[in-house]
Order: sequence, then structure tokens, then C-alpha cells
Amino acid sequence: MNTNHDAHQKCLSWAKSNPLMIRYHDERWCVPCFDDDELFAMLSLEGMQAGLSWEIVINKEASIRAAFLDFDIEKVAKFDEAKVVEILQNTGVIRSRAKINAVINNAKMVLKIKAEFGSFSAYIWGFTGRKRVVHELRDLAEMPAQNELSRAVSKDMKKRGFKFVGPVIIYSYLQGVGVIDDHLVGCPHKNYSEQI
Ligand SMILES: [Zn+2]
Repeated sequence: MNTNHDAHQKCLSWAKSNPLMIRYHDERWCVPCFDDDELFAMLSLEGMQAGLSWEIVINKEASIRAAFLDFDIEKVAKFDEAKVVEILQNTGVIRSRAKINAVINNAKMVLKIKAEFGSFSAYIWGFTGRKRVVHELRDLAEMPAQNELSRAVSKDMKKRGFKFVGPVIIYSYLQGVGVIDDHLVGCPHKNYSEQI
């Protein structure tokens, strides 16, 4: 085994040999995202994770995306109570009224941000001056649960009325959309560039 292979295996140990999780690690995790609907989708999925494992979310991801119309921000912002009841009956999703309501609430908040900043992407990437934050972790145990950046983003989003955006959820979100790169040193998927 070469070093890269070892680092790759170590880096994706949280994927627990689940093919969907390995694919998430290899193709999406820490990859910069600029698409507003996808940035909203990831925020929603991270919120759905609260109190559960990311693996549960990934296993249900396709059904969750279908239930929320691929997280089309405009459409989700218009979901009414009948739609919430419909989603609550869907066994393929995470059936939490609080989380479903939060997704709908957050879609409305994203629309306000788009009106103010031009795009949700401009808002999210504005916290780092459109730069990636590349950590040099050698072990997953070194990965913080939250940091100064995630606390700042969380605080601002809470002030704007977002729900399920605590600093731990937001840290994971910032990794998910590529603002933070926490691939371990030596993982072939690590991208050392701060530029986007
Ligand atoms: Zn990795």
C-alpha cells in the first residue's frame, strides 16, 4: 500500500464501507459549490442530520431530494401545510415536522438573501472573501466540530431567521459545500488551492 492509499482509507473511514458514503467522500465532500439550489439542498440535508448520522441522510438522500422537488428554492418556499403533511407520510424521508418546517422557513430566508446579495452563493462565499479554507489534518480526530468561521456564519444566519443552523451543523455544511477542505493530508481528493 502506498501512502496516498493509506491516507485515502483513513480519510474515508467515516464512510464505513457504504458505497453511497464513499462516493460522497470521493466526489462531493469539500468540493466548492456555487449553485444556489445545491447550496440550499446541502443546508437542508445538514439540518436533517441533526441528532442523526450523516449515513442515514445519505441513504435517504434521493428520496429526500425528490420529496423537496430537488430543493428548488422558489418551489420549496411555497410549500403549505398540506405539503408538510404529505412529506410526513413519506417513509423515504426523515419525518420530523420541525426539520421539514425548517427547510421551508429556510427557503424563504434564502430568497431574502438572494434579493440582498444577488445570490445565496455570494452570501456563503462572502464569509471567507471567496477563498477556500484548507486545513492540514493528519488524523480525523484533529477535525474540529466547529470553529470561529462556523460560529460567525451560524450567528449571522440565526439573526436572519434560519433554523437548524447551529455552529456544528454549519461546520459540517461548510465542508459539504467546499468552503472548508478537511480531507486528510495525503488523501487524493485533497485540494490545497485557496482559490475558487
Ligand atoms: Zn479524503
